[in-house]
Amino acid sequence: MRATPGQQQLLLKINQLESELRRSKKALADLQSGDSLRELQHEMRASSEVMLSAQARYENLEVDIARILTDLELVEARIERDQQRLATSTVPKDIAGVQSELAALADRKSLLETSELELLETRDSAGFEVEEAKVLRAELAEKISVIESTIAVELGKLQSSVSIVEEQLRTSRASAPVELLEGYDRKASRGVPIGRLDDRDCGACRIALTSAVFSEIKSASEDELPTCPNCEAFLVR
Ligand SMILES: [Zn+2]
Repeated sequence: MRATPGQQQLLLKINQLESELRRSKKALADLQSGDSLRELQHEMRASSEVMLSAQARYENLEVDIARILTDLELVEARIERDQQRLATSTVPKDIAGVQSELAALADRKSLLETSELELLETRDSAGFEVEEAKVLRAELAEKISVIESTIAVELGKLQSSVSIVEEQLRTSRASAPVELLEGYDRKASRGVPIGRLDDRDCGACRIALTSAVFSEIKSASEDELPTCPNCEAFLVR
């Protein structure tokens, strides 16, 4: 294939722009897929469940505790009444009856107080879980918002760099001869289309040329665009 040194440089530039465009488009697709956010959003949902379940337990325990407090008030009122009866009664049979009821009420009161303490402890730990989940959710929300704004900025940058590169590519391709560009595109559809000769290595496949091929390429005219015998990429000297 014939190509002036300027056209050869142009093809190298087209290849470099196309690689850049592929990289930018890949990065753009990765950002748009939202992979970096997915895990955080998953954690956020999990912590919502933890919080709602702890909140529900907390509220149920509040109801249980209120019920116990009501029972305790009743028992205490009854104890007070019995003690008054005891202080005023003179009939031994009545006194014995009241004393036995007072003993039963004392047992009941102690049971209720123990249950109350246990329920208060369980309620407090549910309340603690709710608070912990709230803190975690606030942290996650903060992280998510930072990532979202970073993504927005990066997306903007990438989108504008994609447009710039696309424009440069259009301009470069428009100034390349059609036949040369067709040859380049055919090679590009199979692999790396062009490489610079790097010492004896092909810049596209990195395989060293044999001495015979190397000297043949070196001695070809500068308007000649040779091809790598290994990977068939154009070789720019
Ligand atoms: Zn090669």
